[in-house]
Amino acid sequence: MILLQQAFDIVMGAARIKASENIGFLSSAGRILAEDVISDMNMPPFDKSAMDGYACRKEDIANQLHVVEVIPAGKTPEKAIGKNQCSKIMTGAPIPEGADCVLMVEQTEINPDGSISFLEKNTKSNICFLGEDVKQSEVVLKKGTIIKPAHIAIMASVGCVNPAVFMKPKVAILSTGNEIIEPENKPGISQIRNSNGYQLTAQVEQTGALANYLGIVEDSEDATYKAIISAIETNDIVLLTGGVSMGDFDFVPEILKKAGVNILFQKIAVQPGKPTTFGVHEKALVFGLPGNPVSSFIQFELLVKPLLYKMMGNESKPMQIILPMDEDYSRKHTEREAWFPVLITDQGTVKPLDYHGSAHINGLGPAHGIISIPIGVSVLKKGENVHVRQI
Ligand code: AMP
Ligand code: MG
Repeated sequence: MILLQQAFDIVMGAARIKASENIGFLSSAGRILAEDVISDMNMPPFDKSAMDGYACRKEDIANQLHVVEVIPAGKTPEKAIGKNQCSKIMTGAPIPEGADCVLMVEQTEINPDGSISFLEKNTKSNICFLGEDVKQSEVVLKKGTIIKPAHIAIMASVGCVNPAVFMKPKVAILSTGNEIIEPENKPGISQIRNSNGYQLTAQVEQTGALANYLGIVEDSEDATYKAIISAIETNDIVLLTGGVSMGDFDFVPEILKKAGVNILFQKIAVQPGKPTTFGVHEKALVFGLPGNPVSSFIQFELLVKPLLYKMMGNESKPMQIILPMDEDYSRKHTEREAWFPVLITDQGTVKPLDYHGSAHINGLGPAHGIISIPIGVSVLKKGENVHVRQI
């Protein structure tokens, strides 16, 4: 049995980084950048008015100002501003030569002769200066960024319409078990609906990778072997659930070896998910995840998700929030690191969810995140700060 950190290092060390492809920036949300995005221009590209008002010289603001031109956004000014002159200017329009400030229209009045008076003593410049936001050739988005809507706007602003992103790993999902049936069917006595296959499909898709659900495999050596061999052929990662514990029909690890998979670990000191198995084949990386849905959910979060992100070029740490426990939490056995679902209350405290064991998938329903309790520790005290990992 190895520690979670050791298992994590082994899995991450086996990552095979995907090649990149160029795609339309509009469909790039959720993908991961495979190159830095560089600005092809200064932003703003010219000194720009931040307000609707009058562009003039600061030294003249106590005087009556004569309007020489109207400058809407999109128009290039034609007249320079001299002593006691101004141009009526709109937000986003270029500042005319000679002007060093814009008086806000709300702070001015028009005199009977058509000249302008400023009603305040002082003004800010109200100018967005050339290159103030971004300089030409500056990196605006870094390689490895997970693309979000604001990043789409940034790409639009610098003309990056075909960004390079990492290709999606293909992830095969296989559920093993003679008792497992598909969800649209009503289970007979001793049958159980397949929740893992679909949970994993959704988890994979949430990362932006390609999920390839391959159905249920009966607990026979032959069927398991055939399913593994064919999944390895055409996928980057194969996720199997079930068949990794100590039962008479749990042959996944043995069959993996037969299929040419080099098993790197078969037990980890984590609860839930002790029998989690991981191995490498020249064509694919393979996980044998435990059959219980909470175990497979948590092991996906801890090991598979970071691997998928790494293969897509992102190694950032999962988002964690540090908050105090709402109540004491205690456990009897401390030989494994435990991970369990929690709720964040309206008061910003962390409440462990009532969760009976690794088959209790309903326990995960209201969860905002998961927290861990280290090996050797039996109590988390009320008020003690814990790291809530978002799920
Ligand atoms: P196993 O790891 O095959 O011994 O399975 C452990 C437990 O998880 C058993 O109670 C199985 O019935 C249950 N189980 C296995 N696969 C699934 C699945 N795909 N969906 C829901 N429960 C499952
Ligand atoms: Mg089974």
